Amino acid sequence: MKKLAINGGVPVRNTMKKSWPSWPVVGDEERKNLLETFESGKWWYGERVKEFEKKFAAFQNAKYGVTCTNGTAALEMALLACGIGDGDEVIVPPYSFVATASAVLKVNAIPIFADIELDSCNLDPIDAEAKISKKTKAIVPVHCAGFPVDMDRFLSLAEQYRLHIIEDACHSWGSQWNGKGTGALGTCGVFSFQVSKNITAGEGGILLSDYEEIADTARSYSNCGRGKDTPWYEHYLLGSNLRMTELQAAILLGQLTRLEEQTLKREENATYLNQQLQNIPGISLMKNDARVTRRGYHMYIFRFVREMWEGIDRNRFIEALNAEGIPSSIGYPNPLYKNPLFQKPGRSGIDYREVHCAKTEQICEEACWIPHTALLAEKSDMDDIVTALTKVWTERKTLING
Ligand SMILES: *Cc1c(COP(=O)(O)O)cnc(C)c1O
Repeated sequence: MKKLAINGGVPVRNTMKKSWPSWPVVGDEERKNLLETFESGKWWYGERVKEFEKKFAAFQNAKYGVTCTNGTAALEMALLACGIGDGDEVIVPPYSFVATASAVLKVNAIPIFADIELDSCNLDPIDAEAKISKKTKAIVPVHCAGFPVDMDRFLSLAEQYRLHIIEDACHSWGSQWNGKGTGALGTCGVFSFQVSKNITAGEGGILLSDYEEIADTARSYSNCGRGKDTPWYEHYLLGSNLRMTELQAAILLGQLTRLEEQTLKREENATYLNQQLQNIPGISLMKNDARVTRRGYHMYIFRFVREMWEGIDRNRFIEALNAEGIPSSIGYPNPLYKNPLFQKPGRSGIDYREVHCAKTEQICEEACWIPHTALLAEKSDMDDIVTALTKVWTERKTLING
């Protein structure tokens, strides 16, 4: 084949001439909503926020939506609404953004790490069950990259052990399990609208639930502990001010008009990549599940199969792929418990220096992420990804670790 770009060859894609889609995607919907809201002077927690909560909850098939400042705050709200606090144990995956575990510490509960599956990067229900103790009150599975965890298994664990399932759906806008949206399947679920996410207002978050009481309690926490239709200066819970602004909701309402179409486009492109990439021995694709009736993609993950690359490491492979003009990254570099936050004695009484989740540690060395923005390009652009991966695989003997 041809000389690798990292070795001075011509890249598969010249990104100066042919760039990848930029993010965020915005249009007249955001512009109009934002301008109207701006000029109305109604910037505070009102009709726009309410409308977005209703529409986003409906989009994920949930009965109730409670917006807030960000996904991290939404996780804290979810834990508090489920009554989780002092000394309670909450099972979380270590392959995630830090908030999945730090939110648990924030409510004085104890994160217990269970391992993930290599072929989905999702929390492994078998290891999660093995970590259940008398103190366990909830499991917080992450629908990693947008691929729903096996909710049938997790919901039956919830029933058997009387636990809450709090879905960290901060990668899974638009994903559906058996026809129902993620975030609406457990006791509650949370989403982020931070700028890197598939629908964004720069910052923002929401909690979804089918349970009115959970939604009401979450609302109270997000709104200074106020009650429902009770006097303004009467406070019932130790809440905080986590309210979303009308300006954010105005943007999100615009973004939401595009979410379905973008979700379908990403899924179509990812399905095409799955077909085209399955025969490259050096990489391993993530699994599928017929119960996943729609798969939102926050990124396209595949695994670098180390044994096949004769000493070349994943980081060098990613550099080679980027040199060919394909946006890709190593993703989460470490299991969450390896963060300095956990690598010192903490108040939880658990010594996280002794925690080892073998598959998570392996995935941190082997995962390759292509961002969701690339999946918004055309099918011919997916061919560039296929060509580049084939080229790097074919020419692997010319790669030297950097
Ligand atoms: C982004 C993210 C969060 C937190 O969202 P913020 O809005 O950035 O606070 C939580 N969990 C996961 C898995 C995320 O990717």
